[in-house]
Amino acid sequence: MKDTSSYASRLEEEKVTLEKELATVGRRNPSNPNDWEAVPQETGQESDPNDRADQMEHFSENAAILTDLEVRYAEVNGALARIEAGTYGICEEGSEEIELDRLNADPAARTCKAHMGK
Ligand SMILES: [Zn+2]
Repeated sequence: MKDTSSYASRLEEEKVTLEKELATVGRRNPSNPNDWEAVPQETGQESDPNDRADQMEHFSENAAILTDLEVRYAEVNGALARIEAGTYGICEEGSEEIELDRLNADPAARTCKAHMGK
C-alpha cells in the first residue's frame, strides 16, 4: 500500500482518544506502559460496608470497560506497527490486499473481508 498517511493520522487520533478514556477508568501499569489496570474509586469512606460494596461494583464496571478499551488499544497499536513495518493493508490470513472500503471503515483491520473474524 503506497500512501498510509491518512490511516496513520486517523489511528494516532484514535489512540489519543483511547488513552483519555482509559485514564478515566484505569492507570498505566508502571512496569508495562502499554498495559492498563483498573483502579477503584477513592471515596475515603471505606469503613462503610455499603460504600465498600458500591466501590467493588464500580471497580468491576471499570475493569469491564477497561478490557474493551484495551482490546481496541492493542488493535490500533498493532495497525500503527504494521504501518511502520510496511505491512499495512495486507491480510494477515491470506496475504491479500485488504479492501480500501474495509480500511476506511476500520483503519485497524487486520484481514480482508473474506477472512473477517478469523
Ligand atoms: Zn484475507
